[in-house]
Amino acid sequence: MTNTHTTQVATRLASFGSTIFTEISRLAAKYNAINLGQGFPNFDGPEFVKRAAVDAMTMGHNQYARSFGVPDLNKAIARRFEQDSGLTFDPDTEITVTNGCTEAIAATFLGLINPGDEVIMFEPFYDSYRACASMAGAEMKVITLAAPEFALDEQALRAAFTDKTKAILLNTPHNPTGKVFSRQELDLIAELCKQHDVLVISDEVYEKLVFEGEHVRIATLDGMRERTLTLSSLGKTFSFTGWKIGWSIGPPELNAGVRAAHQFFTFCSATPLQHAAAAALNAPESYYTEFHDAYRKRRDLIVDGLARIGFNVYPPAGTYFVLADHSPFGFEDDMAFCRHLVEHCGVAAIPPSSFYHNREHGRSLVRFSFCKTEDELREAIRRMSQLAE
Ligand code: GLN
Repeated sequence: MTNTHTTQVATRLASFGSTIFTEISRLAAKYNAINLGQGFPNFDGPEFVKRAAVDAMTMGHNQYARSFGVPDLNKAIARRFEQDSGLTFDPDTEITVTNGCTEAIAATFLGLINPGDEVIMFEPFYDSYRACASMAGAEMKVITLAAPEFALDEQALRAAFTDKTKAILLNTPHNPTGKVFSRQELDLIAELCKQHDVLVISDEVYEKLVFEGEHVRIATLDGMRERTLTLSSLGKTFSFTGWKIGWSIGPPELNAGVRAAHQFFTFCSATPLQHAAAAALNAPESYYTEFHDAYRKRRDLIVDGLARIGFNVYPPAGTYFVLADHSPFGFEDDMAFCRHLVEHCGVAAIPPSSFYHNREHGRSLVRFSFCKTEDELREAIRRMSQLAE
């Protein structure tokens, strides 16, 4: 039957299929598998943050919040960002609280990108990027970060800029490769953006998960504050991915675009959780140190384990994901490998072809999330050991 209501946007979105996270979570549940697919921790964030949420509800913070964020949270985001970057932003005009970084990305696209504008992005990418570009009617210019180094190809980058380029979508630390863009790479991006008057949309949700190198915020580079929207969230850093608290930081003109879309998407995000997020961002430095140390151990554990089983592993410099090459096990592609893994080993992982504009580029890869307790990671490795037999 033909759906007479199908529009161009719906058709384009349908061509991307449903998000891989939904399908893998379904299979994980069906086979009672350890879920190293969608990136959510199997543990909760700190008690003091949960208590702050309960307190906020008890104290009556239960109605709509100010559309662009409860004042305490906007202030806490500004304070934390200043500590991290040395840049100051006005909490009331330069910060917008959204429903997770995913909404911030959507609001940025719908609020700032005109149909026909070109947006440069790097594959592999978090799957919502392409969908948001499509909803905005943007043309994507895709640059491949190729294994094993996932280095930025300078020629390809220079060639991607045209007089129609409106923005570049950056993600560092990068999901799913674990790449942390170097200062040199970011300098090059910054130089080209200034030269061509292009905006930077910088998704930095894994900012506290850097194991090698340093996290350079592109907004801090010379002349970039005025053309950058830095997007981040609470979910990864505080292990509350289901709270969906995210934000954008950038000059008033850019935030005005984000707000214009956000007010009609969702109006505001959950009020008590915003109060708790403010408490979280005021955590002492020791919280961040312990968080980071725990993730370094998890990274080392999974990278070692996968290598022992026989994968070609690309050890991540950041994030809580690791990409590996499954070719040594002889499966046809990433879908076939991940299907076997969940059905026969009881471990769910993401087939990364869904993160590539050209799906072929992801065929030999598999992505594992390691935001799991060490016991669970060990058990996953034990289960996958049968691949080697
Ligand atoms: N960013 C998460 C991941 O890559 C998923 C977020 C989502 O499912 N919307 O696993």
